[in-house]
Amino acid sequence: MPQKTVVTIVGARPQFIKAAAVSRAIARMAGSPLRELLVHTGQHHDENMSEVFFRELSIPAPALNLGIAGGTHGRMTGRMLEEIEKALVEHKPDWLLIYGDTNSTLAGALAASKLHIPVAHVEAGLRSFDRRMPEEVNRVVADHLSTLLFAPTDVAVQNLRTEGIVGDKVRRVGDVMFDVMLFYRDVAARQSTILQRLELVPKTFVLATVHRAENTDDPARLRSILGGLAAISEKHTVVLPIHPRTRAAISARSDFKFPPGLRVIDPVGYLDMLSLEWNAGLIATDSGGVQKEAFFASVPCITLRDNTEWVELIHSGANVLVGADAARIAAEGLRRFASRIPETPLYGDGHAAEQIAAALA
Ligand code: UDP
Repeated sequence: MPQKTVVTIVGARPQFIKAAAVSRAIARMAGSPLRELLVHTGQHHDENMSEVFFRELSIPAPALNLGIAGGTHGRMTGRMLEEIEKALVEHKPDWLLIYGDTNSTLAGALAASKLHIPVAHVEAGLRSFDRRMPEEVNRVVADHLSTLLFAPTDVAVQNLRTEGIVGDKVRRVGDVMFDVMLFYRDVAARQSTILQRLELVPKTFVLATVHRAENTDDPARLRSILGGLAAISEKHTVVLPIHPRTRAAISARSDFKFPPGLRVIDPVGYLDMLSLEWNAGLIATDSGGVQKEAFFASVPCITLRDNTEWVELIHSGANVLVGADAARIAAEGLRRFASRIPETPLYGDGHAAEQIAAALA
């Protein structure tokens, strides 16, 4: 069988983590049927938002780094579209592989489909049904342009069916983030020293992350979320690894300060993040990935959003939507702290990445 070339587009933190699983599966295939070239758009680029993940998760070095970050959605996506097209014309891949729902995902899908290069989308079929979210626009377009759609859950398959995307092109493979977590959980337990560094006692603290545009771009919501977390911090330590977008939103306003009770730290690498997640008594987040990782770690979660794509977590009772309401965040956070959550397998068998690699080959 002749070797097929896959060009993979990554650019943002969650994509590095997802790509870690699939790139490893591709590299380990018997007979090496696939050659993978990684294109890093540059959307996230510094040490703690990008490089640490390549190092810790042994992700192959990008064949190309486009260095495109910042600017408006239109400008960023447009510049990526132009550069990805050039890379595709040069390498003529058999597949373009994209992950999730960022501007890098959208630019990759558009560039490849105009060149008639088949697109494979990992994490297909997720919907918040909120078209005001940039991620929702990106994922809807990416799914409709894709030739192979790797859905993590039954709900995702159903969402695609509702939009008329059916048949063999849709594969329910499970969630690659579950694969990555299984692979690195023990490594994190052995190697991460974050609990000692921050002097945290397991199961006595809350881990919080906030970075969705709907929260960071709306000062009233952001203030209210921080207020809710501050109220929780009167009882339990709250650790907040701060996303650059959230830090920028807070520093842009002179009347805005982090509440003193919060332990605000720089973003952490994946191994430290797993260690924080597994040892937290509660996770408060607006991140898609972190909602699932809370569930993997059997830690109760409150989601700082009005909706979620990962609805099975809500239905199972593992997670609850609290929006940006300070009183609700405090009440649900304190009530759920260290509570037990149901343990049902929702995200596959830990072999999503191998199934994806096999389908591409
Ligand atoms: N993450 C990390 N360090 C941090 C915060 C998050 O390694 O300081 C990881 C987290 O464990 C998860 C992924 O980043 O695997 C989630 O990415 P993010 O929250 O940026 O995006 P989303 O999942 O919402 O698309």
